[in-house]
Amino acid sequence: MDTIQRLFNIKYPIIQAGMIWCSGWELASAVSNAGGLGLIGSGSMYPEILREHIQKCKQATSKPFGVNVPLLYPNIEEHIKIIIEENVKIVFTSAGNPKTWTNHLKQHGITVVHVVSNVKFAIKCQEAGVDAIVAEGFEAGGHNGREETTTLVLIPQVKKAITVPLIAAGGISTGKAIAAVFALGAQGAQIGSRFVTTIESSAHINFKNAVVNAKEGDTQVSLKQLTPVRLLKNSFYQKVDELEKKGAAIEELSNLLGRGRAKKGMFEGNLEDGELEIGQVSGGIDKIQTVQEVMDELILEYNSVIKNMSNGFL
Ligand code: NDP
Ligand code: NDP
Repeated sequence: MDTIQRLFNIKYPIIQAGMIWCSGWELASAVSNAGGLGLIGSGSMYPEILREHIQKCKQATSKPFGVNVPLLYPNIEEHIKIIIEENVKIVFTSAGNPKTWTNHLKQHGITVVHVVSNVKFAIKCQEAGVDAIVAEGFEAGGHNGREETTTLVLIPQVKKAITVPLIAAGGISTGKAIAAVFALGAQGAQIGSRFVTTIESSAHINFKNAVVNAKEGDTQVSLKQLTPVRLLKNSFYQKVDELEKKGAAIEELSNLLGRGRAKKGMFEGNLEDGELEIGQVSGGIDKIQTVQEVMDELILEYNSVIKNMSNGFL
C-alpha cells in the first residue's frame, strides 16, 4: 500500500489524466491541492504556453504536480527543455517509445511514468527504466489502443508482467471503480473524463454540458486507420463513420480530419464539427462539480465500498 503516494508525495493515489485542451494549470493545481496528482496536458500547448501554465501551476499549488507529454508532439525537444528548466519533478509520457526520453528525464531527477495500452509495451517501459506505468483500457477517451483490451482484462495481465508500480486508467470515474482496479492489482487510479466536467477544467462549457448529457453508448472509437481515438458521437464522427464504411483511403480520412479539430470541439465548444474526446464513463457523469467535490465523493465512496466488501463470502 501507499506505493503511489510515496512515489509522488501525494495524499491519495488518484491521478488526473493529462488531457489536451482540458487540463491546463487550473485543473492540475486544483487536483494537487485536493491531495491527488494534477497533470498539465501539454499536447495542445505551444512551448511558451506550456511554460506559462507550469509557472501558474507553481503559484497555485505548493503540492507536487506533473506534465503529460504525448511523444508524438511536434515540439517535443522544446517541451522537455522547458520542463527541465522550470524544475518540474514528474512527467507522464504517452503515445510514443518510452526509451526515447526516459533516461534523459531521469538524469534530471524527474520521476517518469509512461502510458500504455498493452502488455508488450508495459514490458518495454519497464526495460526503459520508468518509475511507474499507467495501463489504459479501451474504455478510455482520446487516443486508444489498437488491441481494444478493456481495463478489466488489461490490468491483471500487465500486473503479472511488471514489477514497477501500476496505475490503472480507462473507465474510472467513481470510488467504486477505484476499488475495482485496486482489486485487480493497480496501486493508483488515473481519471480523465470526470475531471473534464469540473469547473476548473479548461474545456468549453458546451463540451462539459455535452459530456454531462451523454448516455451509455454515445462514444465510439473512431479513425482506427489513423490514430484510434474515442469520441463522443456528433456530426463530425458521423462523417468519419460514413467515409470508413465506404472504405475510404487514409488520405481521405486525414483530409476530413484536417487540423485543429480537437481544439474546435473541446476548447471552442463547436459540438457539431469539432472532435470531442471522452471516455465511455461519460454516460455515468451527470453534473458539473468543483475538483474538491469530485475528490471528496471519490474518497467517500471508495472508503464505503471497501468497508462493505470486507466480510467476503459468508
Ligand atoms: P485561461 O485558461 O483562463 O484562458 C484564457 C486565455 O485563453 C485568454 O488569453 C484567451 O484569449 C484565450 N482563449 C480563450 N478562448 C480561446 C480559444 N477558443 N482559442 C484560443 N485561445 C482562447 O488562461 P491561461 O492564462 O490559463 O491560458 C494561457 C494560454 O493557454 C491561453 O492562450 C490558452 O489558449 C492556453 N490554454 C491552453 C490549454 C491547452 O490545453 N492547450 C488549456 C488552457 C489554456 P483572449 O484574451 O484573446 O480571449
Ligand atoms: P492537429 O494537428 O489537428 O492540430 C494541432 C493543434 O495543436 C492546433 O489546435 C494547435 O493550436 C495545437 N498546437 C499546440 N502546439 C502546437 C505545435 N507546436 N505545433 C502545431 N500545433 C500545435 O492536432 P490535434 O489537435 O489532433 O493534436 C494536438 C496535439 O495533441 C498533438 O501533438 C497530439 O499528439 C496530441 N494529442 C494528445 C492526445 C492525448 O491523449 N494525450 C490526444 C490527442 C492529441 P492552434 O490551433 O492554436 O495553432
